[in-house]
Parts: sequence; structure tokens; C-alpha cells
Amino acid sequence: MFADRAKIYIRSGKGGDGHVSFRRELYVPNGGPDGGDGGRGGDIIFEVDEGLNTLYDFRHKTKFTAKNGEEGGKRRCHGKNAQDLILKVPEGTIIKEAESGKVIADMSGENKRQVILKGGKGGLGNMHFATSTMQVPKYAQPGQPAQELWVMLELKVIADVGLVGFPNVGKSTLLSRVTNANPKIANYHFTTINPNLGVVDLPNGDGFVMADIPGLIEGASEGLGLGHEFLRHIERTKMMIHVVDAAGTEGRDPVEDIYKINAELKSYNPEIASRPQVIAANKSDLIYTEDEDPVERIRKEFESQGIKVFKISGVSGEGINELLYYVAEQLKTMDQKPITFEQEFFPGDELIHENLPYTVEVVDGMYVVEGPKIEKMLGYTNLDSEKGFLFFQKFLKNTGILADLEKAGIQEGDTVKMYGLQFDYYKE
Ligand code: GDP
Ligand code: MG
Repeated sequence: MFADRAKIYIRSGKGGDGHVSFRRELYVPNGGPDGGDGGRGGDIIFEVDEGLNTLYDFRHKTKFTAKNGEEGGKRRCHGKNAQDLILKVPEGTIIKEAESGKVIADMSGENKRQVILKGGKGGLGNMHFATSTMQVPKYAQPGQPAQELWVMLELKVIADVGLVGFPNVGKSTLLSRVTNANPKIANYHFTTINPNLGVVDLPNGDGFVMADIPGLIEGASEGLGLGHEFLRHIERTKMMIHVVDAAGTEGRDPVEDIYKINAELKSYNPEIASRPQVIAANKSDLIYTEDEDPVERIRKEFESQGIKVFKISGVSGEGINELLYYVAEQLKTMDQKPITFEQEFFPGDELIHENLPYTVEVVDGMYVVEGPKIEKMLGYTNLDSEKGFLFFQKFLKNTGILADLEKAGIQEGDTVKMYGLQFDYYKE
């Protein structure tokens, strides 16, 4: 089954907490701190799998969580690092932040593997925090938090040339005739529900990848019908072959059809509409009219606008070689690099904050806060100056110490003790 879009939830692993413990040995009454570090949480990594061509699996399983790092242990034991979680996607998959639609990664070209969410770092155990003034540190660093995100996966096929046109004009027939692809061909609108890709190999050694962009109909750019679903596949193609039923077998006017499709492309994305185009005036084997040759009408209308017109038949094969050689020549004049999407969203930037180890304890009715960073802060902050005091207040808030004091039950007027310093607690 085919799916070219899926919304999934991903979460990296939290870092394991550092451990608090003290050495216990026979005949050694007061051993030093020996709590080990926590292990690293698992990353969420996306990887291209060349064998995949659909996002269908992500329609069933939609939540992916990497494992947490293990907590540190006694006797300097390092907690185990968690395994990364690797999600395999087809080449050409774009990963976007679901809410803003901003691109996180484009899994195409050179980019075969990208870490999307970093696992949290493990916290340091208390063995790191013994200082001359604090020989029994009862705190360890908590592990860094996990990161979580809803992302949208979108498959945008990678092809040099896209076939566009109304349903039933003969796109799939042309693709199957000139490439190794095996698309469904039938006289129904919307028969083709997935974009087909094929490689065109020309006898002179040239070649390119061609994609059938199905179901492009009027109103597609506004999301009417299936068409909109597939317009995104055109975004990477450098050139378009605009296929039209020149014989007008369904009673439509080919010149009008071309304008309609181009209007759709333009309202979807003007930049795409301005990419080079050639017109394949198809079904030439069905043109019997004694009047003006409809292909000549198309030529008159569009060649003056710089768009070349080829009279072809996907059934008899007329004109196809000329069309393909022309397209191959045009492609040579263009940038050889595939069209890729730049990263606009960087997960984690907003999440990163320092986890300071500290403890909050109630001793004799006083709230005692201890931690190595705090000790350092107090060493160089002048709390008597207004600026220094404001800075210190902000520090207490940002580190979470204030919240933890409240959790411990502190009331207005209670005393807080930090190393040599004592102050009364008042809400701002
Ligand atoms: P698509 O919807 O644009 O992919 O169109 P298809 O390739 O599925 O073709 C629709 C119908 O038109 C099928 O019945 C094809 O056999 C027929 N068809 C396609 N190209 C030609 C052609 O050049 N000549 C004739 N006579 N019939 C064609
Ligand atoms: Mg088709």
C-alpha cells in the first residue's frame, strides 16, 4: 500500500540521573561520595532505506519512543547508555515540525541519516561534587530531559521530470512506454493513486528519472479532489512534460486544458509553475479531423510563449524519441544537483537548559539548599548590591530552586540557608 504522508510522535530517551551514594568499607567510617553517572538517553534517528517507497507503515504505528538512560549506581557505576531508535524512511522523505510545517530534515541526496531528537545526557553522580567545603555532597545531577515532538513525514519523490496533465490524457501510458515503470493504465479518472517513477535510458547514453504526477485536476491547489495530495511530488522536478489529449477525445479543448493546469500549478506554487515545460500533444493517432490540425493550434498558442510542442502518441510511438532527446538536452543545461529543502527548525534548541544538582532539605525548620554551582555562585555574587541580588533571585527561579522550596512547603517568612548565607523567604 502507498502513503506519502504520515503524522507521528517521536520522543528521545531521558538521560539517567546521577547517583548519590557514599563509599562503605570495613574500617572506613566516612567514605567519600561514590555515586556514578547516569547513562545517555537514546536518540531518534531517521535513516534512508533504498528499498522503501512508501510511508505506509507510519500510518499504523505512530508513536516512537527511544529508551531512557539508566541511573548511575553505587561504587562509581556508570548507568547504561540507551540504544538509539532508528526509523527507516524512503529516500525523498521530508520531516517537518507538525505545527509550523517547518522543515527539520530532507532525507535525500547525501543526507542518508540524521539525528532528529537527541537523547538526554546522563547526570553526573555525586562522586564529582566533593569540594573542600562540601565533603558529603548529597546531590547528584539529574539526567537531561527527553525531547518530544510531533512531526509530519512527507514523501516528495525525486525525479528530474514530472508528467503533468488532466486525468486520462495518457501520462501513465507514456511513462510505461519509455521507462521500466509499470503504472496502472485505464480509462478512469484517479486510477493512478501513487506517483510512479521510471528511468528513461536513451540509446546515446543519456538518461533521466521521470515521474507520473497523478490526479492533477482543476481545483487541486485548493485541495479539491486527490490532486492536491500529489502536487507536492512535483516540487523536486526540474522540468515538466505537460501531457495533453490533443485529439480531445473527452470533448475538452486541449489549449484550454493547458491553461487550466498551469493556473493550478501557479496557485499551488508560482516558482514551480515557472520551471521549464514542454508540451506533449498526445493521442496523435486519434486525430482525424479534416479541419485545422489541433496540434498546430497548440503550437501557435504556446511556441510563441517559448514552450516547445511535440506531437506524440503513447500508443503508436510517434514523436516520442524527439521529445525525450529534447528533454535530455534541456536537463543538461540545468543545475545537476537535486532540489532539496533546507533545515528551518532545529529541535532541542528550546529545550536545552542546564541541570544543576542541588538538594533542598528542611533542617530545624530552616530550608537548606546545597549544591556545588550554588556554592560557586555565592562566591562571586555580591548580594549587597541591588544588581547582584536581582541576579541571584533570577538564578533561584531559573534553576528551579524556588519551585522546589515551595514544593518542600516553604511559607512567607521562613528562613532559607545556603552555605554561609541566610535570608527570609518572601514572594516577589
Ligand atoms: P493518465 O490518466 O494521464 O495516466 O492516462 P492513461 O495513461 O491511464 O491513459 C488513459 C487512456 O487513454 C487509456 O485508455 C489509454 O490506453 C489511452 N491512451 C493513452 N495514450 C494514448 C494514445 O497516445 N493514443 C490512444 N489512442 N490512446 C491513448
Ligand atoms: Mg495515470
